[in-house]
Amino acid sequence: EALCQAKEVVGNTICSFDAQYHQDNLLRVSLKSQIPKALENQEFRLVYQPQIDIQTKTLIGMEALARWEMQRGTMVPPGQFIPIMEQMGLIGAFGTWVMKTACVQNKTWQNAGLRAIKMAVNVSAQQFSDNQLMAAVEEALAVSGLDPQWIELEITEGTAMQDIERTRAVLRDLKNVGINVVLDDFGTGFSSLAYLKNLPLDGLKIDLSFIQQLPHSATDRAIVIAILKMAKVLNLYVIAEGVETAAQLDFLQDEGCDMAQGYFISPPKPARDLEPLWDEMGQR
Ligand code: C2E
Ligand code: CA
Ligand code: CA
Ligand code: CA
Repeated sequence: EALCQAKEVVGNTICSFDAQYHQDNLLRVSLKSQIPKALENQEFRLVYQPQIDIQTKTLIGMEALARWEMQRGTMVPPGQFIPIMEQMGLIGAFGTWVMKTACVQNKTWQNAGLRAIKMAVNVSAQQFSDNQLMAAVEEALAVSGLDPQWIELEITEGTAMQDIERTRAVLRDLKNVGINVVLDDFGTGFSSLAYLKNLPLDGLKIDLSFIQQLPHSATDRAIVIAILKMAKVLNLYVIAEGVETAAQLDFLQDEGCDMAQGYFISPPKPARDLEPLWDEMGQR
């Protein structure tokens, strides 16, 4: 109602924006009301996207990505339901489930005799800033029996820079347990070099927006080369996300990027579909 009134007051120009806003809002409200039932019905699952060592082209990791498959088969992307879960205060429990499920899957692959690889798990801003992260990690380690060296947490650059002292303390705790941490969506969050220098990080994940126009865009070539040089100085490994073409992978290989992930290598898939990759991308 308030929206309709505003529309009348401001006139027609803003109408389409209002309509879009209204629709987004309806979607959010509707998803929100469905999340508790969906959790109960176990409509959430994880898919995994392979990461390769660019120089040797061998499989070295997987990123766990959450999926919501509604009962009528509709897929809701995580970009839509994760923010709502954060808002509802459900992300702590959900994040713990993701962490546990991903670690158990990784251990299952190891137990099947497949060469050990790391499992990257996304940590949301709110999960990172509450005090439960360490407990979630420890629970996942205990339940799965996975060695901590095979977990990697992905924290967005934006999240890490919100409260740098806190970030430093959390990363130190994680480091003490032997867990790797990388900055996700790197290049989008305005990190200062001084901060980066003082954070106990293991790697950087270059945001896909800098990868997509490679190798054509001179600006993006320069940005990626600069990130790679800086990472070398800071002794951090670099993962490129969103690699979609052979030309992108060639460019990254020539410039000495360590790892790559993207549709060109493989889309995210359910665990059972991924086992052949150990044979296809390097021996067991
Ligand atoms: P992200 O962490 O930056 O994940 C990368 C996204 O890029 C994924 O989208 C992935 O499917 C997509 N992607 C992979 N390869 C390519 C490619 O070659 N080209 C393009 N254009 N895209 C590619 P997805 O799965 O929809 O996830 C979106 C975001 O949702 C993630 O971005 C992450 O921020 C969040 N997310 C997903 N799963 C979880 C989770 O379990 N916990 C939390 N906290 N966040 C999650
Ligand atoms: Ca990620
Ligand atoms: Ca990312
Ligand atoms: Ca992203």
